[in-house]
Amino acid sequence: MDTKIKKQAEFLRDTKFVNDVHLGKLTRLLRMTGFDTVYRNDLEDDEIIRIAVEEQRIILTRDLGILKNKKVQKGYFLRSQQPKEQLREVILRFQLQNNMKFLSRCIICNGTIEKTDKSSVESCLKPGTQKHFNDFFRCKDCGKVYWEGSHFNKMMMFFQNLENELERS
Ligand SMILES: [Zn+2]
Repeated sequence: MDTKIKKQAEFLRDTKFVNDVHLGKLTRLLRMTGFDTVYRNDLEDDEIIRIAVEEQRIILTRDLGILKNKKVQKGYFLRSQQPKEQLREVILRFQLQNNMKFLSRCIICNGTIEKTDKSSVESCLKPGTQKHFNDFFRCKDCGKVYWEGSHFNKMMMFFQNLENELERS
């Protein structure tokens, strides 16, 4: 494999993002899809650029100004203003169709989540949840608990549609 292609392949295997302050909804969708995404709504442009350079992250933004900065190596200007459409754009642009890993990353803090025993999360659940659900996941960083409830089902439906759509495009 020639070096350029190899470099590109390495890069894609470990695609990480830092989002500008207006992309809170896209951030949640990217994390739901399993992509490592740094986001804070109080980050200044130069902090975003510093994080991107230090951690080799791609800057996602709807602000061309930040992408014109000479220090920026990798950035992408989102065409759409609609979060779900933006997610689709990012996946297609960086060819991430095969890298999606649902329920692997916390939508709140970007930490990784793992399957956990019901007994270990019981104390943080409401009685209704305790009774009706059996599969639980917990964020290793912030401790947020996820379970296969109605929200989960909605999310899975969204991903199913997304996968079907991507197959067609
Ligand atoms: Zn978390």
